[in-house]
Formats: sequence, structure tokens, C-alpha cells
Amino acid sequence: MALRGCGRWALRASALRGGGSGRRHRGHGTDTPQHGALRAALRKIIDREINPFVDKWEEEGQFPAHKVFKTLGQAGFLGVDKPTEYGGMGLDFSYNIAVAEELGSIRCGGIPMAIGVQAGMATPALTRFGSDELRKQFLAPTIAGDFVACLGISEAGAGSDVANIKTTAVKKGDEYVINGGKMWTTSGCQADWMCLLANTSEGPPHRNKSLICLPMDLHGIHIAKKIDKLGMRSSDTAQIFFEDVRVPCKNLIGEEGMGFTYQMLQFQEERLWGVATVLTPLETIIQETIEYTRQRKVFDRSVLHNQVVHFRLAELATELELLRSLLYRTVALYVEGNDVTKFASMAKLKAGRLAREVTDSCLQFWGGMGFTSEVLVSRFYRDLRLMSIGGGTDETMLSIICKFMETLPSK
Ligand SMILES: Cc1cc2nc3c(=O)[nH]c(=O)nc-3n(C[C@H](O)[C@H](O)[C@H](O)COP(=O)(O)OP(=O)(O)OC[C@H]3O[C@@H](n4cnc5c(N)ncnc54)[C@H](O)[C@@H]3O)c2cc1C
Repeated sequence: MALRGCGRWALRASALRGGGSGRRHRGHGTDTPQHGALRAALRKIIDREINPFVDKWEEEGQFPAHKVFKTLGQAGFLGVDKPTEYGGMGLDFSYNIAVAEELGSIRCGGIPMAIGVQAGMATPALTRFGSDELRKQFLAPTIAGDFVACLGISEAGAGSDVANIKTTAVKKGDEYVINGGKMWTTSGCQADWMCLLANTSEGPPHRNKSLICLPMDLHGIHIAKKIDKLGMRSSDTAQIFFEDVRVPCKNLIGEEGMGFTYQMLQFQEERLWGVATVLTPLETIIQETIEYTRQRKVFDRSVLHNQVVHFRLAELATELELLRSLLYRTVALYVEGNDVTKFASMAKLKAGRLAREVTDSCLQFWGGMGFTSEVLVSRFYRDLRLMSIGGGTDETMLSIICKFMETLPSK
């Protein structure tokens, strides 16, 4: 993909922000003609530059992140809601959600997930709290697609319980010396930098952590292994160790000790992005199941024309639209500046459950074909299970919702 998409989108983005065309986009709907136009442009790139290669990359166990991100970055899709001074489009977060929804038309879960880490998980805190120097050094090339970013939060001994991470970054002179390790790092084998969460003091666990921009080519960083996974096979997932890794203190994002808070804020965007990326795959699976069961004859009639089958598909399609409505409502509130922790957790919980329900029910309707690697439903059956784990498990979401409902004692 050459620069051709980029110029066009730079112009349109300025029109959406109210500059240039004189026609200002008002309101924060997530489904306006402007969002649709953005999605259509992305769809062209997906159809031409990504989908034809997905089966190969799934088989190889890794997609070429630098190549794919460069293509998306040149067209502006890695920074739609990022500031224009760092190469973003400067649009509101609802446009990011439109991008995430369209990424769901990629015929696997692994590539949208890695794009999500790049555009919406490793960078929100840097964008909001990072120094200008850090943003020039790490954010601008990430938006351009020149750098691959990863997010280092989870460890072998701490996933749901983020406060319990053990990696330390100890200040020595004007450097931090980092020891420990990270687990489950998406794009970790290919990344140029990591948004790292580490303990920078001995204080209370919610106030002793910091986020640090960590270049991945530093001495003492060891990629221990690429983890072999049930699904998301084209996305590389790494286990990484740090042994006396020295990084300048100026690579700290925002204030020291605020890392846990920044990460909790960063999680809101991650969770909403994750919800948005499952809508299109679930819609596609339901549609492909309708088509398959319509033509598949069992006992002299279409499988689809059994009431139990079309009732189930209608029920799932209804649930999907309810999820979309909750997502759009939450995004609208977020864009207006509200704290959406409760609704984002509800949407993430529902998305995880529904992803499992839709893929499970639909796979069953495909009979033996559903058990093969030849059909999309089996790939999404594996890939989308991650919705109930990544970025917080269903149980973590339930715990957060309970706190808002005050059914749990506060600590
Ligand atoms: C493919 C993949 C990619 C990932 N990418 C990244 C990444 O890029 N960066 C990153 O930092 N992390 C990443 N993760 C990690 C992910 O965020 C964690 O797996 C997740 O937070 C869960 O943590 P855990 O695996 O340690 O599970 P645990 O915390 O050990 O939880 C295990 C199980 O315990 C149960 N449980 C947890 N809490 C409760 C509770 N309160 N009540 C009852 N039961 C509970 C749940 O059933 C849960 O599933 C990735 C994971 C996968 C699988």
C-alpha cells in the first residue's frame, strides 16, 4: 500500500474535525456517515493487503507486523484519535471504535488484536501523560507504523491481579535498572518498544508502579519463547525476561508511582476496543452459518429450516445488536469525558460470553465441517475465546461491576 490512502484521509480527517470543508461533524455517534466512510477506506486495505494472506500467516504462526503496520500507518489508521502533531488524525475516540469494528472483517482474531495493542493499548497513557520528547521518540513512529509496540503488564505470577507484579525498575543515577519478566506479551517477538509496568518503589501496590517506554533492543532483554497457543495463531505472544536492563529515567511516562492508575485508565480503551473487534466476526459467523445451513440438506430439507436453528440464530443476532448498543452508549459517554469503567466492564463481560455462545452454537450447526480448519467458524471458535481472558477475565469484569454495585466490601 503506497501513500495514496494517507493523503486522502488526512484531508477527510480535517473535514471531520471541522477544519477545511466548513461542514462540521457534530455529535458523537459511532455510526454516522463519517464513521462509515472511514470504515470503507479501511476495508479496502484489509481486502487488498491483509485478507489474501491471513491463511498463510496463521499457518506460519506469525504475521509480518512491520509490513502490515506500515501499510496501516501510512493510511492513518494507527492514530485516528491521536494528536495531529504526532501524526494522528485528531479525531475523537468513537472513530477509533469504528476502526476496531472494521478490523473485525479481517478473517482471524490475531491481527486485529495486535493492531489493537499498537493503536489502542500500548499508547493511550503515553499520549495523555508522556513528555513531548517521549511522544516524538515513541508515539510518532508507532502511529506511522515504523515501530511495533507491545504492552508489558502481565507476568507469569500476576495477570488478573495487576497490583501483584514483581518486575522492578530501580533508580540508579539517571537510569532505571530493570529486573524481572513479562508473560503473554502480544507482538513481543517483533516489537521495537514496550510500554512496561514495573515497581519503582517499595510503597503500597497501587502507588509504587510506573509506566516506562522500554526500547526492546537493550542489553539484558531476553525473548525466552514464542508461546504456542490454542488460537490467535498469527499473533506472536512472547515470554520475556529482563536482567539488569538500563533505561534512561526520562523514559518514564508521566509521574513516578502513577503507573497503576494510568494503566487502569488505559484498560478502559483496551476493553472498548476489544468489544468493538468482536462485533463484525460474530456477525460474519452468523451470516455464514445462515448461508451454509440454507444450502445443507439433511432429511430432505435445509438445516436452516428447522425452527430450532433459525430461532437460535435470531436470538444470537438480537444479543449482538444489544451488545453493539451498549458499546455505542459507553463510547458516547467516554467521548463526553465520563468515567465509563462500569459500562466498559459490562460490555467486555457480555462480549466475552457472547463470543463463546455464538461461536459454539454456530459451530454445532456446521456438523463435521465445523470441526475442520477449512471454515472461518472454527478459527473464530478458538480465537474469540480470548475475549473472556485478555485485558481482564470475565471474573475480573464481574468483580469491577460488583464494586460499582457495592455488593463487595471496599478494601
Ligand atoms: C493470547 C494472549 C495475549 C495476551 N496479550 C497480553 C499483552 O499484550 N500484554 C499483557 O500484559 N498481557 C497480555 N495477556 C495476558 C492477559 O491479560 C491475562 O492472561 C489475563 O489478564 C488473565 O491473567 P492470567 O492469565 O494470569 O489469569 P489468572 O489471573 O491466573 O486467572 C486465572 C483464572 O482465575 C479466575 N479468576 C480470576 N479472578 C477471579 C476472581 N476475582 N474470582 C473468581 N475467579 C477469578 C478466572 O477464571 C481466571 O480466568 C495476553 C493473554 C493471552 C492469552
